Amino acid sequence: MRVLLLGGTAEARELAVLLIDGGIDVTSSLAGRVARPRLPIGPVRIGGFGGVDGLRLALADFDLVVDATHPFAQGMSANAVAACAAEAKPLLRLERPGWAPDPAWHYVATHEAAAERVASLGARPFITVGRQELARFVPALDGAAVLARVVDSPDLDLPPSWRLILSRGPYTHDGDVAVMREHGTDVLVTKDSGGSYTWSKMTAAAELGIPVVVVARPTATDGVPVVDSAPAAARWVTERTGSC
Ligand code: NAP
Repeated sequence: MRVLLLGGTAEARELAVLLIDGGIDVTSSLAGRVARPRLPIGPVRIGGFGGVDGLRLALADFDLVVDATHPFAQGMSANAVAACAAEAKPLLRLERPGWAPDPAWHYVATHEAAAERVASLGARPFITVGRQELARFVPALDGAAVLARVVDSPDLDLPPSWRLILSRGPYTHDGDVAVMREHGTDVLVTKDSGGSYTWSKMTAAAELGIPVVVVARPTATDGVPVVDSAPAAARWVTERTGSC
């Protein structure tokens, strides 16, 4: 039983621990996006596979796949669906639940829509959507006093009125209240990432009475079994021990 675990999330790292503890041969895969990734335990490969065709070739070394990538990592998930279907490899999606909706949040479908909504709600936004999405906020917020928090520096020149914080969660409520107060934040924008790692910004915004714009999750992939926790994914894998 050789498992390919598509990772880059806390849940994937938790699943790697459970599978290795259960004596299962698992290789974690990371995209290699961040300079100093949090590494899971056990064997790790880093870097893209080269699209669906590359992933199909890689699947020769594995019996089944768990896609535990971030809820917004759509490209990798779509490739996993296509490659596993083509190679007849079982695929499980491990996806942490989204945050329970708050009626006070402004849900939008895209980052561009988020940028427009943010521009209509405030002049000192706190942007926490990740480095790769920042460019999508520039047209609507060029000239605004933006504070953007990312793990690694983005590959683009930001407007001079923007300020960058390089840091990585998990964060704390008090720390996020302090960050928002210091910046004078009047609107927060986030993806519906779910989980606890970045939740404190939501409670901090609530305490400070700051409106929150939430980019809704992309539509789930049809036809793939989904679980929402690492223990449930570990059970799915172990139930298949002996069937491959
Ligand atoms: P993406 O847009 O879905 O993926 C783009 C390409 O990156 C994929 O086609 C694949 O390249 C490569 N890739 C992505 N995840 C990979 C993995 N786990 N192992 C090997 N290659 C991978 O992904 P993304 O949104 O850039 O996210 C990249 C990674 O960061 C993911 O692993 C995700 O779990 C993690 N992450 C993403 C977010 C987010 O907000 N998007 C947040 C936290 C963590 P090839 O086509 O060459 O195979």
